[in-house]
Formats: sequence, structure tokens, C-alpha cells
Amino acid sequence: MAAKVIVLGRQGAGKGTQCARLADRLGVPHVSTGDLFRAEIASGSTLGQALDGYVRTGALVPDNVVLDVLAGRLGDRAVRGRGYLLDGFPRTLAQGQALFEVLGADAADVALEIDVPRPVVERRLAARRLCRGCGATSVAPDDADHLPPCGTCGGEVGRRDDDTPDAIARRLDLYDEQATPLLVWLDSLGLLVTVDGDGNPDAVTSRLVAAVTARLPGVVAPTRTA
Ligand code: AMP
Repeated sequence: MAAKVIVLGRQGAGKGTQCARLADRLGVPHVSTGDLFRAEIASGSTLGQALDGYVRTGALVPDNVVLDVLAGRLGDRAVRGRGYLLDGFPRTLAQGQALFEVLGADAADVALEIDVPRPVVERRLAARRLCRGCGATSVAPDDADHLPPCGTCGGEVGRRDDDTPDAIARRLDLYDEQATPLLVWLDSLGLLVTVDGDGNPDAVTSRLVAAVTARLPGVVAPTRTA
């Protein structure tokens, strides 16, 4: 059975890293709306130009646009029928309801909330740097905006456009406001599992794997493939 998993959590909770690992263990595509938007913006397409202002300032992209982009990705030949791990979607109650309206009652088997306290993610986001070439993330040891070129691809490493102090505060406020009703609703459907996301990344992965295994015995590969 191909698992369908939703992962939620504050920006900086480690969703990107944890979702990539978990998708690998589950053998399902990792579908991140933020990554889809950043790729669209980098392509310079008309849609990308329209998305740029939202993503740069940390504002939410309108639901109809998000749903179109997501439906396009889930309909891709490479993704269709293989289950999925949704990262960054749904972000609001309306998006959650739309997901189940469009895909039906089995749109998700489990919703995992990676729970990391706000002061911890604020510190992590302020130090997060991104390679503009390959998208790898790294941590700035001090407050330096720019780091040496990426060790993987040689690309320029700097802050994500939406990791400025203003955009960070706006995105975290938005998360707290929008996610609460969504989490309550997912819980009422019996789908929500909250996982402690603070501490060692490997320990967090183990907790996430344990949470999925408790819900969906047998879907997680016994050993890591990556
Ligand atoms: P992320 O990488 O998940 O932090 O997303 C980066 C940015 O993409 C967000 O700050 C929003 O501008 C936009 N975005 C990503 N996912 C969604 C979504 N589900 N709904 C609205 N906007 C989104």
C-alpha cells in the first residue's frame, strides 16, 4: 500500500530534512509546495513571477494557485499512484478541506506534526543559509549573511529570500494563526500525531518513523536506503 502522509510544523522545525528522509523510507514522492514554488520562480515563468512576491515576503500564495500547482505535481507520471508525503500543504483549514474534497476520504493516512517551540525555530531560521545552486541548506556559525561557496556544487550560499527577520516573524505568526484550526480539524478526523521535533535530527527521524509505523504497520522500509 502506498502511504499518504501529511507533515506539518513551524518553519525551521526541520520539515525539509525530515520529509526527505521519511519519504525515502516510505518509498513515496516528497511533494513540497515551497520547493515547487521556488523551482517555478527560478524558471522565470509567468507563474513564477506571480509567485515571487508572496514567497519573498512570506505571505501565503492564494489557495487556487496552490491547488493548481499541487494538482499538477500529483498528476505527474512520476508521482501518480505512488502515494505521497506532503510537505508545506495543507497550511490552512480551507486547504485541508480542499485536499479531501478533491482526492476523497483517503487523501491522507496520517498527519504528522513536528513540534518545535517557537524560540528554537526563530534561532534556527536566523542561522539558516541556502545554496542558490543546488538548494542545500547549511547553518551560519555567526550572523554572516553569506558563507563560502557550496561544498557540493560551488554555488553561492546566502539567506533564503524569506529568511529576513521581518519575513521570519510574519511566517511564524501566520503559521500559529493558520495551523491551529487545521490541526484541530485533522485531530477530529483521527489523523493527527504530534511528534517532538526538538533535539538530534536522527532521533526525530526515529520518532517520525515510529509514529507512521504505529499507524501503517509494514509501510516503512526496515533499514535506511539513503
Ligand atoms: P516553505 O518552503 O514551506 O516555507 O514555503 C515557502 C513559501 O511558499 C511560503 O512562505 C509561502 O509563501 C509559499 N507556500 C508554500 N506552501 C504554501 C501553501 N500550502 N499555501 C500558501 N503558500 C504556500
